Amino acid sequence: MDQPGRIEVRPIRQMTGTSEFNEVFFDGARARAAHVVGGVGNGWRVAMGLLGFERGVSTLVQQIGFAEELAGVVRQAVASGAVGDPVVRDRLVRQWAELRVMRWNALRTLGSPGAVGASGGAQGDSGGAPSVAKLLWGRWHQRLGELGMAVRGAVAAVGPADWRADAPYELDALQRLFLFTRADTIYGGSDEIQRNIIAERVLGLPREARGPR
Ligand SMILES: Cc1cc2nc3c(=O)[nH]c(=O)nc-3n(C[C@H](O)[C@H](O)[C@H](O)COP(=O)(O)OP(=O)(O)OC[C@H]3O[C@@H](n4cnc5c(N)ncnc54)[C@H](O)[C@@H]3O)c2cc1C
Repeated sequence: MDQPGRIEVRPIRQMTGTSEFNEVFFDGARARAAHVVGGVGNGWRVAMGLLGFERGVSTLVQQIGFAEELAGVVRQAVASGAVGDPVVRDRLVRQWAELRVMRWNALRTLGSPGAVGASGGAQGDSGGAPSVAKLLWGRWHQRLGELGMAVRGAVAAVGPADWRADAPYELDALQRLFLFTRADTIYGGSDEIQRNIIAERVLGLPREARGPR
């Protein structure tokens, strides 16, 4: 951040009311050669290696948070009586079972050769494991957010009584989970992009058509 040229950081406000990431503009900024990561001309490979971590290996730790969130939704279902609904019970058990599957998939990702950077972390080297992991946990987490709303009932969609359109208000944990998880199938590369990676680089299917240049 501290170098010749201008670096402008513009926070992006999310629908949860928080700003965890930014748009960053580089205007005539110059980095020192010693600060180049992975060698000049290798930026794409470095970026893809980083994203492979975000989609795959780093999510091993996420499992602990996911398990706690699921336990919170189960507690809410018991408290609200929603757990008596067989459809809700089915959805809760599915979430539990799929979390177990994700755990095994995360361990498999750890054990795959390209996943931990041995070959630069290129997606194609790791049998697409990071993309498979991202597809699994992104939608799983989003469904958990939806389930959290379902077990709370209609009141979950309502803000506080003194709500004003021009002022932020506190979301409770389940509302925050629901709103934030809308982004899980977007950041780190959207679901569609993960499917493209698996199709083209792992299964060897024909590349998607490119538009006219
Ligand atoms: C909460 C959140 C946090 C983020 N954090 C960071 C961060 O820390 N660092 C960072 O660099 N970025 C971050 N991002 C940005 C994120 O990586 C991008 O939003 C994401 O990769 C999607 O790119 P895009 O927004 O340009 O969508 P676009 O590429 O414009 O895509 C729009 C839609 O078109 C679809 N689409 C695009 N291309 C294709 C294709 N070839 N085939 C099929 N469908 C396609 C997409 O799936 C999507 O549905 C974050 C985003 C969010 C929402």
